[in-house]
Amino acid sequence: MTGILQHWAGGAALKSTTERFGEVTDPATGQVTRRVVLATEADVDAVVGAAREAFPGWRDTSLARRTQILFAFRELLNARAEELAEIITAEHGKVLSDAAGEVARGQEVVEFACGISHLLKGSATENASTGIDVSSIRQPLGVVGIISPFNFPAMVPMWFFPIAIAAGNTVVLKPSEKVPSAAQWLAELWREAGLPDGVFNVLHGDRIAVDGLLTHPEVRSISFVGSTPIARYVYETGTAHGKRVQALGGAKNHAVVLPDADLDMAADQAINAGFGSAGERCMAISAVVAVGSAGDPLVEKIRERAEGLRTGDGRRGADMGPLVSRAAQERVSSYVDAGAAAGATLVVDGRGVTPDADGEGFFVGPTLFDHVTTDMSIYTDEIFGPVLSVIRVDTYEQAVALINANPYGNGTAIFTNDGGAARRFQYEVEVGMIGINVPVPVPTAYYSFGGWGSSLFGDTHAHGTEGVHFFTRGKVVTSRWIDPARRGPSGVAGGELDLGFPRNV
Ligand code: NAD
Repeated sequence: MTGILQHWAGGAALKSTTERFGEVTDPATGQVTRRVVLATEADVDAVVGAAREAFPGWRDTSLARRTQILFAFRELLNARAEELAEIITAEHGKVLSDAAGEVARGQEVVEFACGISHLLKGSATENASTGIDVSSIRQPLGVVGIISPFNFPAMVPMWFFPIAIAAGNTVVLKPSEKVPSAAQWLAELWREAGLPDGVFNVLHGDRIAVDGLLTHPEVRSISFVGSTPIARYVYETGTAHGKRVQALGGAKNHAVVLPDADLDMAADQAINAGFGSAGERCMAISAVVAVGSAGDPLVEKIRERAEGLRTGDGRRGADMGPLVSRAAQERVSSYVDAGAAAGATLVVDGRGVTPDADGEGFFVGPTLFDHVTTDMSIYTDEIFGPVLSVIRVDTYEQAVALINANPYGNGTAIFTNDGGAARRFQYEVEVGMIGINVPVPVPTAYYSFGGWGSSLFGDTHAHGTEGVHFFTRGKVVTSRWIDPARRGPSGVAGGELDLGFPRNV
């Protein structure tokens, strides 16, 4: 893909008024592949306006018709998933199998949203008081904003938009300007699936686009995913402007390995969870907490496996691809420098790796530190790269205390064969998503995704029934109908009473 990528509004490309552009690169080669417009305030108005215009018609569209369109979208996505995976690899850098996995996880939310008619069912109570019935219904919000990060160009938007659309809202998606093409592809797929123009729109840009959505009076809610400082800002600004906000932030995820665990499995999983997508995952494990005698053999097993990983262009069958940008590569390398300088043992050094790729890609190879302490920046900061730190503790209690003291609370895992220890961990640990012998415990679409602490601002997690709740608002109806036998408005025969609307209604 080449040229300049424009916004998508009202079912077609919308030419921006901007003079600012972002550069999109292929991270495996370092080549600039296309440019993307960075929205002006006028662009925000135009794209939100298209969504606003489409809302009444989409809200009035029957659930049966909406569901048909969702099923059509699902079928098209199934048939063409590879195309989307290729776009993700070309702009993010993750290997094709990781990109295909991302698409599949997004597709699960589409499938969940296909059940919207069941999910939107309200409740009803007959004769709550004599002759009085009460029922509850949920209605869409209107125009909803979605702001997504670079690391999941398709899956993260798909955590939100299938449910938002199914529930009758119209959407403005602001993807990361580093990886904008997946959103465009998805917009075209919606059109092919029969979604009316203006229901799904894409606004490209940076802070101006984000601020425009956060303050726009027609935007009813914001679903944000990104780093913690921006998530906090989005939450505070959006709520100050009267919007419903769910803002998912950064992470520092720990895996506790008890001495009784299957250490080969734990090492395999540490490799997957630490180096999958080059560590650019909010559910990546970046800290392995080795308890007691687990330490030495575990580090040895992770070292052997990390040294065997092939780093290279994600289209060439590598195990691990590049980082997203030159800045990310430099940032991650500087953390490795800092960890070594702070006295951690650098067991595997990914700086200066020789990747299987052409050009000047943004590579850092798998990196493993041992004897990391909690005051080191490689522990305190979210590195967002292929750097795995092993922290040694003597007891299970120390491991849990360490996790609970961390400001983030996205995901965590425990490796053990002791059911009692696992159960206690699940009870005590202050983190939103827990894996028991599962390293990346991303909930399936019918559960909800979200962390605790500095990993999420707002009350509602993504997708599952919490997602349906987020994208709708409740109404409760209390009604009384007089029995026709006793006469009253509904018992008036012959239409003598003027009810104030045409007789044929
Ligand atoms: P980011 O915070 O830099 O960007 C996220 C979005 O915010 C992008 O659309 C970007 O354009 C916009 N943005 C960037 N700077 C902004 C600013 N100053 N003002 C307003 N908007 C701004 O995050 P990223 O680097 O794209 O993604 C990586 C981060 O996302 C990591 O911290 C990762 O943990 C987090 N993440 C979290 C989850 C989760 O579920 N909790 C999932 C994926 C990624």
